[in-house]
Amino acid sequence: MLETGRQVLAHVDMDAFYAAVERLDRPQLAGVPIIVGGGKRGVVSAASYEARRFGVRSAMPMYEARSRCPQGVFLPPRMERYHQVSRKVMKVLAGFSPLLEPVSVDEAYLDLSGTERLWGPPRQAGLAIKQAVLTATGLTCSVGIAPVRFLAKIASDRDKPDGLTVVDDLEVFLATVSLKEVPGVGARARQRLGQMGLTRLVEIRELGGERLERLMGVFGLRLWELAWGRDESGVNPQREVKSISNELTLEADTGNREVLAAYLSGLSQKVARRLRRKGLCGRTVTLKLKHRDHRLVTRSTTLAQATDAAGDIFTAARGLLDAYGAPGPFRLIGVGLSHLSAPGQGQAELFGAEKTGRDKALGRAEDAIVARFGEKAITRATQIPASEAPLDQEASKGHNKVKPK
Ligand SMILES: [Mg+2]
Repeated sequence: MLETGRQVLAHVDMDAFYAAVERLDRPQLAGVPIIVGGGKRGVVSAASYEARRFGVRSAMPMYEARSRCPQGVFLPPRMERYHQVSRKVMKVLAGFSPLLEPVSVDEAYLDLSGTERLWGPPRQAGLAIKQAVLTATGLTCSVGIAPVRFLAKIASDRDKPDGLTVVDDLEVFLATVSLKEVPGVGARARQRLGQMGLTRLVEIRELGGERLERLMGVFGLRLWELAWGRDESGVNPQREVKSISNELTLEADTGNREVLAAYLSGLSQKVARRLRRKGLCGRTVTLKLKHRDHRLVTRSTTLAQATDAAGDIFTAARGLLDAYGAPGPFRLIGVGLSHLSAPGQGQAELFGAEKTGRDKALGRAEDAIVARFGEKAITRATQIPASEAPLDQEASKGHNKVKPK
């Protein structure tokens, strides 16, 4: 059975994310306006919905926010904590589809096409996503689901907070979209189009693509396409992982080899688990040590055979530790694996590229099952883009600074 239904794309956006995390960590702030911001730029990073009622908005100078909402609680951003929660959110989302594209710490696109058998029709899937995020994090999100990417984004913003908007009829929904909502249409463009009496997206159809191009350059052409509900961008799943590593800042600096080895053992297990979760094996083991004076050293060795076993990783890392002469003390220790590949042919056959003769939608549903339930194997290893990479202990990097031994 070949089902070539239209695309089902979801945009998931956490509600007032930084402020919501602060409230989560400080339940006594229930109902209180929370404004997160300050720092170098001195502007509001996030405002709770209570604070928004006083006219506080993102990117507003903090002094203005203070004068509009003097009773608010003003907090500095804690990015590490937000990234930690973000990782939980993305993990939940990855359980719904392997085609996940995080676009910021609190926002992601998901391609749900072909997952209907798993999650039901779009509205049901949207509710399930919201519930799963709430259960895992205690936070609400807003979801937009549409056949094209830019409308999923607009839809997720329609019913905030804790919203769900499903675009069933493209043409009906398009008619409701104002130019203000369209990503990329700036104030100047809006002004120019406004002077022609155009405020809604569908109204610019009458201008024609060429005229729009003359008016606005290449973006004019894109806007013309959007006005007809055409948007080929889809969801771009995350980049391939090139290395998997875990590291740990020690509670107390130490040069004691046995203590360091014990840490290495735990880290090796973590790395091995993550490898298996992604269905990968690696050949190059890298030990990372940070001296008390923050001098960073790495030492690597390449195994005869790729592995995803904690014992192999630990043995290699321990060997590197023993071979490194400096006594320390060290403040951080880490272990990583690179030169990753899919493991033995068996699993590759099950989930690999040889899906010939299989219905694509079914393949995707399988990927989703594996992503949700499977510890075993997924072919497409993924990670959060480097810009959103977690700032704390767990790191997947596109490139590994490996010093040849
Ligand atoms: Mg948000």
